[in-house]
Amino acid sequence: MQPELEALLAVQEDDDAIRAIEGELAAFAPRLASLDKARQRAHDEVERTRLAIERETDKYRTLEARIKEHREKHERNVATLDQARKLREATAAMAQVEMARRVLAEEESELAGMARRLGEMASALEAHRAAAAAIDEEQVGARESLRAETSRLESMLSEARRVRADKASGVGASLLSRYDRIAARRRSQALFAIRGLTCGACDTSIPLQRRNALLVAGLIDVCEACGVLLYAAPEAPAAGAPATDTPAAETPATDAAASADADG
Ligand SMILES: [Zn+2]
Repeated sequence: MQPELEALLAVQEDDDAIRAIEGELAAFAPRLASLDKARQRAHDEVERTRLAIERETDKYRTLEARIKEHREKHERNVATLDQARKLREATAAMAQVEMARRVLAEEESELAGMARRLGEMASALEAHRAAAAAIDEEQVGARESLRAETSRLESMLSEARRVRADKASGVGASLLSRYDRIAARRRSQALFAIRGLTCGACDTSIPLQRRNALLVAGLIDVCEACGVLLYAAPEAPAAGAPATDTPAAETPATDAAASADADG
């Protein structure tokens, strides 16, 4: 096998490993996102309740001030009633006193309702705060192990990339860039051994001329059908010899040979 092909196959093997590590790293993103989301939800709940209490407290104070004003007015009315001598004055003052009393009673019951609501909201706020604190506490371990696992994978990844770069130096720049482009597009293997007389990736038969270039000249060529790089694996070694990492390489393709001959 040509040394450049051998180097590219080694690079491809490293790329498989690199993609696997990248995949594992990417799988952490949703786990982190779901931790963030749970925490955010708990803290949002606290904030929402806190704001509602703020608004309700404002309303409470406003009503409280209004009641104070109404009570003072009511007291003045009562005094007027006490001093009223003439029947007509007394009747008018009485009506005012009665009306003010009703208004005051309504407002006071409304204020009591608000106080009750505020009490309930304060308990809810306390519960939400406790829940948020519990979630923060709960997540400490999960976040710690995510961080540890991520940094372990990141150092594995940078080591794997370093090793890969070393091996890639054995591949010509133009072949390497073609390979890189195809691998990036496919997000997977880019270099395939021909399977019998067909493409190892898409099984399309390879025209005679190209096949000769692969088999005889040992070139690396592009599959016209699916665009991967093709090479011809050397003759299969005797049974029992260590297998290569390209499963397509050793598959016999008798039917394909016949059909390939037909259109070659
Ligand atoms: Zn193909």
